[in-house]
Amino acid sequence: MVIIPGTDMYIGLCGSDGKPDPVPENAVFLDQIHSNRIVIDPGGGESADGMIMGRRHGIPALRVADCLPVFALWDDCIGAAHAGWRGLASGIVENLITAVDQPLRWLITGPCICGECYVVGDEVREAVLSGDPAGESGHPSGRLDLRKSAFRRARRVCSEEFRLIDIDECTFESFSLHSFRRDGTEERNFIWLAEIERDEHIRQLNSEIKCNSPERRKN
Ligand SMILES: [Zn+2]
Repeated sequence: MVIIPGTDMYIGLCGSDGKPDPVPENAVFLDQIHSNRIVIDPGGGESADGMIMGRRHGIPALRVADCLPVFALWDDCIGAAHAGWRGLASGIVENLITAVDQPLRWLITGPCICGECYVVGDEVREAVLSGDPAGESGHPSGRLDLRKSAFRRARRVCSEEFRLIDIDECTFESFSLHSFRRDGTEERNFIWLAEIERDEHIRQLNSEIKCNSPERRKN
């Protein structure tokens, strides 16, 4: 659990081992299709990869295993997007952020496959690079850095500064998280943005903004 400073919201994460946050019963999941489509006030199960809802009007949740989960927090709204290479290349991050006509307060990115581990073919790399403000220089050779590309895309469409929480953990390297690339698994990590229950306020102190877990790295 990562508490968002100055708010009553947290990011919950449920992977394989050692990620024990229970998925809330009323979490709203989409039918993720690697698109750039955003749904406003989803009921759940819509074919789309991003959603926006009023604060206290639901719990946006994503299923990911290597793709990048992105969450956004405005004064009155919250949102989430599933950003794999296809979604990123077609503008899912920009679509999420520009769908709300308010200053973005927080952008939160969750665990995904990192820029060192995500080896891709030229076609995939080119698709993501073409809309990336940093282009080629923003990615290691023969690889893609979904996380940093998402930050750059977000910054480009935001006229004002927002704060960032980066849960910088690599799904491919962390055995407490599911990774499609590593295991070919059908299993997914669940990640969501929700209000903190009152008793959790007492038990949990603010987490650090930068959430690295180097002890879980393989090397
Ligand atoms: Zn990695």
